[in-house]
Amino acid sequence: LTGLRLYLFTCGSLLFDPSVFLPDQPRGEKVRGPIPFYLLEHPKGRVLVDTGCHPIVADNPEMAWGSLTRVFYPEIRHEDLVPEQLRRIGIDTDTIDTVVCTHLHMDHAGGNSLFPKARFLVHSREWEAVKNPSLEGKGYFRNDWDHPLNYISVEDGHDLFGDATVILRALPGHSPGHMGLILKLERAGTVVLGIDAAPMLRNIHGPLPRNVVDSEMARRSVDILRSLKDQNARIICGHDPDQWSTLPLAPAYLD
Ligand SMILES: [Zn+2]
Repeated sequence: LTGLRLYLFTCGSLLFDPSVFLPDQPRGEKVRGPIPFYLLEHPKGRVLVDTGCHPIVADNPEMAWGSLTRVFYPEIRHEDLVPEQLRRIGIDTDTIDTVVCTHLHMDHAGGNSLFPKARFLVHSREWEAVKNPSLEGKGYFRNDWDHPLNYISVEDGHDLFGDATVILRALPGHSPGHMGLILKLERAGTVVLGIDAAPMLRNIHGPLPRNVVDSEMARRSVDILRSLKDQNARIICGHDPDQWSTLPLAPAYLD
């Protein structure tokens, strides 16, 4: 018995050209993809995976993200923000013990400051990258992550509860310290949060996304996801509108 539950949420959407993720698609069209976040309920703790966007994104996307809005345009209402959604299923933000930062991009770490009591797990490489001033505005914004929070560096294979139910897996390429999660659920089996290593389901067997920092690393990360899929794991992708339209969203959960 693992006692682990996975809740899936989306906190608004991104308007983007799918050829950013699938370079074999014709350019010029726009689709609406989800901005996901996840909640893990384990007998030993409550874990949030990513924190969505900063609240100012709901008021003024251009002010928050600048020219990046030409590639990813956020459509977020205040009621979509992570704390509001958690409250709607009866969860107070102060009861989140741990936040796993899959990476520190603006659609994943924007709400970090809203969880001052949590410890934040970040891959050591991501931590190095985000402090590099030349990357500011290229997916990273200081206003998202640069707060006096309890940040802790982790490495590939970090076992969150020491029982192998939640493993953090380094899946770099999209960003230098990007991580996914491998979850062992009692009924649903192995579920993998692939996050942006495979933003679209078709990335697993098809082309690599265009927006990667290192295509060799990105290739190896997709190989890891593909081999997990071959071993019957269910892969949940980072921003795939078709896949997410089929997933059970909170208050439903997988266990
Ligand atoms: Zn993303």
